[in-house]
Amino acid sequence: MEVPCASCCEKPKSNNKGIITIAPPTPTTPLSTPAKRPIKRRRRIVIKLIKVISHKYKELISLHNIIIMKIKTFTFNQFQENTFVISDNTSDCIIIDPGCYLQEEKNELENYIIENKLKPIYLINTHCHIDHILGNAAVKSKYNIPLYLHKEDLSTLHSVESYAHVYGFEKYKTSPDPDEYLIDQSEISFGLMKFKIHHTPGHAPGHVVLYNQENKFVINGDVLFNGSFGRVDLPGGDLETLKNSIFDVMFQLPEDTIVYCGHGPETTIGKEKKDNYIHQF
Ligand SMILES: [Zn+2]
Ligand SMILES: [Zn+2]
Repeated sequence: MEVPCASCCEKPKSNNKGIITIAPPTPTTPLSTPAKRPIKRRRRIVIKLIKVISHKYKELISLHNIIIMKIKTFTFNQFQENTFVISDNTSDCIIIDPGCYLQEEKNELENYIIENKLKPIYLINTHCHIDHILGNAAVKSKYNIPLYLHKEDLSTLHSVESYAHVYGFEKYKTSPDPDEYLIDQSEISFGLMKFKIHHTPGHAPGHVVLYNQENKFVINGDVLFNGSFGRVDLPGGDLETLKNSIFDVMFQLPEDTIVYCGHGPETTIGKEKKDNYIHQF
C-alpha cells in the first residue's frame, strides 16, 4: 500500500511494510492553465498570419492585374433557363439573362450577391425570349443598373407582355426598356474583364453572345446547346440565319472555348464542331 507524504516533500518515505513511495509534487497552478495558453497564443498567431498572407495576396493580384473569375449559374423558371452572374476579384459583377420569376428564385439570386459581397454593374440579355427576361424588372428595381441588349430584339422584348399569361406567368412584371444597345463587334467590360459582342441571329433576331478571350469562354444564350441548337420556329427565327451564326461566328472561336448555354450543361466549341445536330441540316 502506498502512503501519501503528508508534508508534500519529495523525500522518499517508508511505510510500515517497508515500501518506499515518492509523493507527486503539488501543482502551483491549475493543471489546465499551462496547456490552454499556448493554444490560444498559437491560434492568435495563425489568425495574424492568415491576415498578412491574404493582404499580401490581394496586393499581388491587383499589382499584376491577375483575374480571378467566377461564373455562377442558376437554373430558373419552368423552362429551366440558365441565369449567369459573372464576377472577378474586384467584386464587380454582371447579371446575364435573369430568368428568376418566383420569389424564391429572386431571393436565391439576391442572396448570392449579398453573400459574396458583389456589386452588380450591368444587366445583360443575350436575347429577349420570356424565359431569359422574367427577372429583368426585379433586378433593375433592386440594383438600378443599366440594361443592355441588341436593338433588333427590342420587339421580342415588347411582345412578352402579350403572351406571358399563355405560359402561366400571370405575375410577369414588364421589363424596363434597355438603357444601352449591344453592338456587333463592340466590347463591354467590367472590373478586370472584357467581352466581345457577336451578333448571332437565327434563334432570335437580336441574339448576341459574349466572348471572353482571356478566360476562353462564351456566354452563348440559345444559339448552341450541348449536342443541339436553339429552335427557329419562334417569331424572328430562321434556320439559315442560325446556321450562318453557328458556322461563321461560333465555330470560328477557338476549339477549347467553353460554351455556357441558356439551357442545359456547358460544352466546348470543339465538341460541337464535331457532333452538333446542326450538321444534319
Ligand atoms: Zn430563346
Ligand atoms: Zn431560352
